[in-house]
Parts: sequence; C-alpha cells; structure tokens
Amino acid sequence: MELRSQVLEGELLHPDTGFASARTRLEQRWDPLTGHASRLVSSPDELFPPNTYDLARLAEETRTGCPFCPDLVEMVTPQLAPHVWPQGRIRRGRALLFPNLRAYAKHPSVAVYDPELHYLPLARLDAALVGDNLAAQVDFARAALEADSASTWVSINANHMLPSGSSLFHPHTQGAAHPQPTTMQALLAAVPPERFDDYLATERRLGQRHLGGTGTIEWLASFAPLGPAELRAFLPGVASPVELGGDRLAELAHGIVVALALYAELGFESFNLALYGAPPGTAGYPLNLRMLVRSNLDMPYRSDATFLERLHWEAALDLTITPEPVAERAGDRFRR
Ligand SMILES: [Zn+2]
Repeated sequence: MELRSQVLEGELLHPDTGFASARTRLEQRWDPLTGHASRLVSSPDELFPPNTYDLARLAEETRTGCPFCPDLVEMVTPQLAPHVWPQGRIRRGRALLFPNLRAYAKHPSVAVYDPELHYLPLARLDAALVGDNLAAQVDFARAALEADSASTWVSINANHMLPSGSSLFHPHTQGAAHPQPTTMQALLAAVPPERFDDYLATERRLGQRHLGGTGTIEWLASFAPLGPAELRAFLPGVASPVELGGDRLAELAHGIVVALALYAELGFESFNLALYGAPPGTAGYPLNLRMLVRSNLDMPYRSDATFLERLHWEAALDLTITPEPVAERAGDRFRR
C-alpha cells in the first residue's frame, strides 16, 4: 500500500529578513482508510502549548451542584427503562452508568468513572477506572441491543474536559446504540477488510508510526490525523463493542491508559475518543478506536477546530504534534 502524501511549497516576503523572499511548506496526507486529508503545517510559533491552566481550582469551582458527584448523582440523573435494565443504572466497580438526558442517539448513555472523582487528570486514569467504565458501556450496549435489535451501531466515546465539548467538568464517557451509523462509522464500515490489513502491514514495515501491540490490539500514530496527537487502535476479530470479552476489554483499557499517560506527558489534559463499532458479526471489520488531544484552556483560549476542521473536514497540524514526533515520544510503551 502506498501512503499518499504531497509536499506543497509557496513563496512570501518575510518580515524577519527585511522582506526577503522565503519559502513556505506544507505536507498534505490522505488517510489510507477513508481518504480524509490532513495538513502538516510548518508554524512559526507553538499553537498547542502545554497546559498551564489551574484545573484543580476549576474543579473546586465546579464541584458544588455537580450532578455527577455523590450528593446528587442518584437524585438528578435519569434511569434506564425497566425493559432495558431493571435496576435503572449500571454499576461496574466504581463506574456508574445511566442514560443521557440529551438524546444524542436512540440509546445514549453516560458512564461516570467514579462519582467520587470530580477531578481526574489524565495521569490518574488507571486500568481499573477505564476498564470498569468500558465494561459498564458494554453492558449497556448489550442491553440496548437486546431490547431493540435494530440499534446495531454501537460506539463508546469520550469528551474529556471542557475543550473537548464536554458540558460537565466531572469526567465521564458516552455510549451510543443507534439504528444508523454515524458518518464516520459508515465510512469505516465501507472499507474493504483487506485494506485495514494492508494499512497495518504497511505501518508495521515502515515502523515510523507503528507503536506496537499490547497482545491482540495494535496501536498506531495516525498517518493523516483528524486532529493533534491522534492515535489509533485496531482490534481484529471483533466488529462491535458488544463482542468484547473481559480479557480484551482489560487489554483495551490498558492501551487507553498508556495513551492518556503519553498525552499527560505531552502537556495535554483534554481529549476526545471514539471506539467505532459496526453491527455485531460484520465479517472482516476490525473494531477500531481513534483518540486525539484538544487545546488547553489557557487564556487567550484558542480552539483547535478551525474552518478547516469544522467545514472542510481536514485537519491542520502544527509541526510539533505531527504523527512522527508523537510516535517517537510514545517509544516502546505500547509494546508488550
Ligand atoms: Zn462532580
């Protein structure tokens, strides 16, 4: 497989050199699975500076009245319908799952990692917290499918901290079971199975972005990311989160924790994650995950989503967080 990219150069008169002629350079890349393009841009200054915002203080400011904290969570969060889950809410370890009041899907869920943990910096997310949370989401999706066999498109997602789109400070994940795929689920499910194999084999051979495997799950820094520091994981042999057994869930949780520790090291505290399910039993489709970081809250705040990301569906990436340096920082931590 050829990983498609193109370098494009331009010219301007630069103010730092008395307006002498200077070259500009960008590299455009195309994702080998969906064809989405991405721009790696040489930037004169750091557009994604490490976090300096006092998140602990913001945590204290948002703690009073938080609907996911222990005082309120049982009173103000909804319960699942009895035919889906008779106990109303799903508990796994410290995780607590309930339906989302905002119906982003036919069956939308919210799973709080732990009602006691209103503030959860990325470095403190461990395999038990992530594993129990994922297990609660899998229980929910299985129950939703049992109750409504048409809602076969399952995803598990995260908005972590405010820049990611989360409306509440208290860390949580969101699940969805829906009768229709999201746009990205449809694009991924249309990829021929051998193309996933080719992509992984190519990255394994090139080595630059291949981060290794944790057993049965392979991790990559994306060739053409949708956003900064994007990582991808591929789980061959399962198409939907509902097919994930205990061992693979634990392995996936471990990989996510490793990725989040890397993000914390890089100075980020906000991320998005999506685990894209296809209908259970879809032949050859590997369940796969994407995660990326979001701008820090520092003032003046700059969103990482510009007209390019929102309206052209094409990410522009500042040089310091392009795929290869991220892979280099990841080192061997994903290899088992
Ligand atoms: Zn809270």
